[in-house]
Amino acid sequence: MTSTRLPSRYSLSRDELSSILDDQPRFRVDQVWKGLYDELAIPTEMTNLPKDLRTRLDTALPLALAAVTETVSDRGDTIKFLWELDGGSRIETVLMLYPDRATVCVSTQAGCAMACGFCATGQAGFTRHLTAGEIVEQVVLAARRAKALGRRVSNVVYMGMGEPLANEEPVWESLVRLHDDCKISARHLTVSTVGIVPGIRRLAERPLPVNLAVSLHAANDSLRDALVPINKRYPLGDLMKACQEHLDAKGRRLSFEWAMIDQVNDRPSDAVELAALCRSLSLPAHVNLIPLNPTPGYPVRGSSRAKVNAFRDQLESIGVNATVRQNRGTEIAAACGQLAAGQPVKITSRHD
Ligand code: SAH
Repeated sequence: MTSTRLPSRYSLSRDELSSILDDQPRFRVDQVWKGLYDELAIPTEMTNLPKDLRTRLDTALPLALAAVTETVSDRGDTIKFLWELDGGSRIETVLMLYPDRATVCVSTQAGCAMACGFCATGQAGFTRHLTAGEIVEQVVLAARRAKALGRRVSNVVYMGMGEPLANEEPVWESLVRLHDDCKISARHLTVSTVGIVPGIRRLAERPLPVNLAVSLHAANDSLRDALVPINKRYPLGDLMKACQEHLDAKGRRLSFEWAMIDQVNDRPSDAVELAALCRSLSLPAHVNLIPLNPTPGYPVRGSSRAKVNAFRDQLESIGVNATVRQNRGTEIAAACGQLAAGQPVKITSRHD
């Protein structure tokens, strides 16, 4: 591949841009930077630049992601992008439009090494880390699509393919870029982790107060060992200590993700254990309940809607706030845990 030698359009630093523009008046750097991040423009659209410069930038700054397909569902409110990266691996990004916000869900790795059995990305295994530029570019390209629909991206969740805290530096660099240049506030940036304890600790020490979501799914070690293999390395006691440290450092409530799996983690006793963990933090965690989405390699079904609601009500009655996540994009395999980037996905329907 030849393009690896050039910095891609959104991996470029301002200094690198300045050197590319060293034959130009200095204000050009600002113009191009604004064009890329504020206007989400491609160089040929930057009509405030001389035409030959537009053409030069278009070739000098290639995009890192090549569009493979774009799939739309939920009457146009969920759009899944499939991209091919340099080297040939594929990743997915999801844009979700809600009445009050627009959220982009980004991938941080091609594949994932965490091997959670119920997750399509985990079933596929790890291919490679994404660079900061590749993460930022997913947001910019999705935001460009949103802009064409008259919408502005307000939130970014690191909940696509991969484990963000297994690719820490690029993830951090991309968060800073989204905050500083795409002007997304830290409270609208959320990093989701399977529970990498040292990564949570380091995230707590970083300056931006981004939100932390922890994919818990089980509130005792024997069940969590079975569902989320990394729990054997970072058991719940250590994980909860790291969560409290994050809370102490940021003063922001955490959320716990809980994929509801029929007769596995949806019993009243599970709600009691989960509530105890949430309440062991100085500011009780918020619970997001996600009815398990079907994936090819996991035969167990998601909990029925009635069980999900009963579980939420039970948590609420013990004083824990819980929300049932609206499922977006299930029929285009764009929902939580279904991102597999073009692996053959056979969806069997969930019972309700
Ligand atoms: N690796 C990170 C980021 C992925 S976020 C993490 O684990 O947090 C994707 C979220 O969807 C996680 O909470 C994950 O546990 C959840 N998930 C995975 N498979 C799922 C499935 N089949 N149905 C519903 N949620 C699932």
